[in-house]
Amino acid sequence: MSRIAIIDADLVGRKRHRFPNLVCMKLSAHEKEQGNDVELKMNYEDLNQYDKVYLAKVFLDTPVPPEILEMKNVAYGGTGFFYDKAPKLPVAIEHHMPDYHLYDGFVNQQIAAGKRPKEFDEYLNSSIGYFTRGCFRHCPFCVNKNYNRVEAHSPLSEFLDGRRKVISLLDDNFFGYAGWKDLLLELRATGKPFKFKQGLDERLLTPEMCELLFTSKYAGDFTFAFDNIKDARLIERKIVMARQYTGKALKFYCFCGYDREGKWDAAFWTRDIFELLYRIEILVKYHCIPYVMRFYRYAESPWRGVYISIARWCNQPGFFKKMSLRQFAELNGEKSACYRYLAEFEKANPAAGYFFDLKF
Ligand code: SF4
Repeated sequence: MSRIAIIDADLVGRKRHRFPNLVCMKLSAHEKEQGNDVELKMNYEDLNQYDKVYLAKVFLDTPVPPEILEMKNVAYGGTGFFYDKAPKLPVAIEHHMPDYHLYDGFVNQQIAAGKRPKEFDEYLNSSIGYFTRGCFRHCPFCVNKNYNRVEAHSPLSEFLDGRRKVISLLDDNFFGYAGWKDLLLELRATGKPFKFKQGLDERLLTPEMCELLFTSKYAGDFTFAFDNIKDARLIERKIVMARQYTGKALKFYCFCGYDREGKWDAAFWTRDIFELLYRIEILVKYHCIPYVMRFYRYAESPWRGVYISIARWCNQPGFFKKMSLRQFAELNGEKSACYRYLAEFEKANPAAGYFFDLKF
């Protein structure tokens, strides 16, 4: 029997990370099946005591001590290391039922230390997997840019644990798959609430999709993406259509900070803030909620603090639903960084004032 350590680097290196790593769970299941002793390791100490160490991460900016990657018994992988060039797992592992108990010790310890069980919902209550993988849109910033189409990946039986209450799908562009309807009907037939964690492509919605999706038992908010201001008219048309089927909150990931022209110059940074504000304006008009996602290079912007302020306002719906961005800044106080960032941006760009007063 070999001693195996599995390190979910995002869990070790990110403060608020609360989602299990699917690859780690599959590796764990596979190794346990071989009769090996598997441990979820929460640090990088004494790794030479293990026969094999698997290290995975999803996010590029999760820190990992570089010398660990040189160790002979360490195998590492995931988009956090290789982004769109991440090597595929062997089929026997990729299509293995995940070990949903890999994180038990960690979760129990956290709860015993006073954390709320709700925080660990995805670890305790979700069956997690991909019905489909890939996308056809080739967005240049996306980890899926090398795919040409949406392909079938796993049947539900491959990752469904009947004892778990919720189904969490990680599909990249579910509605871009020709067989979406059968899969959606299969999900509905389980009677379990489900959700698409990565968001859905709202531009593809048809009346039939709306009918089936919005009458399903959905876990949490219906979440879509509104990444490009050029899609504004289409997004708006589809919201109007969706509104015929649901009055529920619709959430939209709003990606920003990525210059499609590759310049990241002063003009881009100002334009990008305005394009984000325009998108928020449209969403507010239809009672939808933005969730701001920043490309890491936003940190180079002279308006870095404005990005942070807008994200803090939007990404906390409790604030977003109650007050305008200006009121949010005032709540932070006239001496706060948030107040100062917005005042400086408005002074340089008086047209921003209109957007600062928008209210949900
Ligand atoms: S539509 Fe979404 S999943 Fe598809 S390439 Fe663009 S960002 Fe990626």
